[in-house]
Amino acid sequence: MTKYVILGSGVIGLYTAYLLLEQGFSSKDIRIVAKHVPGDLSHDYASPYAGATVNFVKSTDPDIKSYYKYTYQKLGEIRKKFGASSCGVDLTTNTESWIEMPKKEQLEFFKSYNNNWRELKAEEMPKGAKFGLSYQTFVINSPLFIRKLFDFVTSEGIKVDKREVKHISEIFDSNTEIVFNCSGLGASKLGGVEDSKCHPTRAQVTVIRAPHLEGVRLHWNESANYMIKRPFSGDEVILGGFYQPKNYNRDVNGYETKDILKRVTECFPILKEGQSIKDLDILREVSAFRPGREGGVRIEKESISGKTVVHNYGAEGTGFVQGLGMARHAIQLAIRSSKL
Ligand SMILES: Cc1cc2nc3c(=O)[nH]c(=O)nc-3n(C[C@H](O)[C@H](O)[C@H](O)COP(=O)(O)OP(=O)(O)OC[C@H]3O[C@@H](n4cnc5c(N)ncnc54)[C@H](O)[C@@H]3O)c2cc1C
Repeated sequence: MTKYVILGSGVIGLYTAYLLLEQGFSSKDIRIVAKHVPGDLSHDYASPYAGATVNFVKSTDPDIKSYYKYTYQKLGEIRKKFGASSCGVDLTTNTESWIEMPKKEQLEFFKSYNNNWRELKAEEMPKGAKFGLSYQTFVINSPLFIRKLFDFVTSEGIKVDKREVKHISEIFDSNTEIVFNCSGLGASKLGGVEDSKCHPTRAQVTVIRAPHLEGVRLHWNESANYMIKRPFSGDEVILGGFYQPKNYNRDVNGYETKDILKRVTECFPILKEGQSIKDLDILREVSAFRPGREGGVRIEKESISGKTVVHNYGAEGTGFVQGLGMARHAIQLAIRSSKL
């Protein structure tokens, strides 16, 4: 019998719970309903798989830009509140490069909230790069981070109902005023929503142990090439990757691992002197789904069976890095008195 029900315990649902508490809403009035919670692993639960680093923003959409900027600022506050190693949010140095020069508007926006950057010299960039930046930013240990948010909101008194919901109306009761639908990819099959625009955007990554590597490197050419040192993970480094919209294959493909290793060793110096690819300490190869959606994220208010539902899903590859802004927008739509 709660006023606010959050469907989903991925990073979007947990950001929503966190911001509601921060706004002073009583934990007694909030409930989370979710099939998966931190600790679970599934292709239908994207959050534990994320990289995740807060990198350059290509979008010129004003809403998306505001989501990124707000999330960047809030992540700093969260890190301070819980402590870096406790929540898994660390400061790092990203080097990021492109084969095309970013637009002036994109660069100006980035510099408006991140003033700790410099342009890369040609010799610091992979072959073919036209432009690159080195900057200080956040990198997130995603499983540790969602665990911390979950433990925090539940320790504050939010109750969790761990179950699968077939139809959204199942979670309405006489006291329910607002449902935040943060069901990620689940929105495609959830009764009452069944959003046909949702699709998985498949990822495959290779995780190695590499104490000699530091920071984050990203190079965007016809592929997404990245190397992310995951903080507080015992020197795990995530090598990627693939971005495959509407690919429903749950398997790990050996030929894709080979392709990742070839690309990242060409782009970045990940090997120690005298090493070859076969000397890398491979811990695991992973395939996972990002919650993609044609047209991008859906943050929208709707009335279903007389109840207010605020949808907030479709973050694809950006739930961690723009999700606090998305959650703020959803709360503002739902609760006019919100001071966010
Ligand atoms: C390899 C990889 C790398 C990534 N890297 C980054 C990155 O660097 N930066 C970044 O920001 N993002 C990254 N992402 C994307 C990020 O993981 C997602 O954007 C984010 O996790 C989406 O969060 P979500 O809460 O919307 O969905 P999810 O984490 O999928 O959570 C959905 C929740 O809804 C619940 N649910 C769904 N349907 C139902 C139902 N019918 N009944 C009950 N519960 C239901 C699920 O159980 C779950 O709790 C990456 C993703 C992958 C796979």
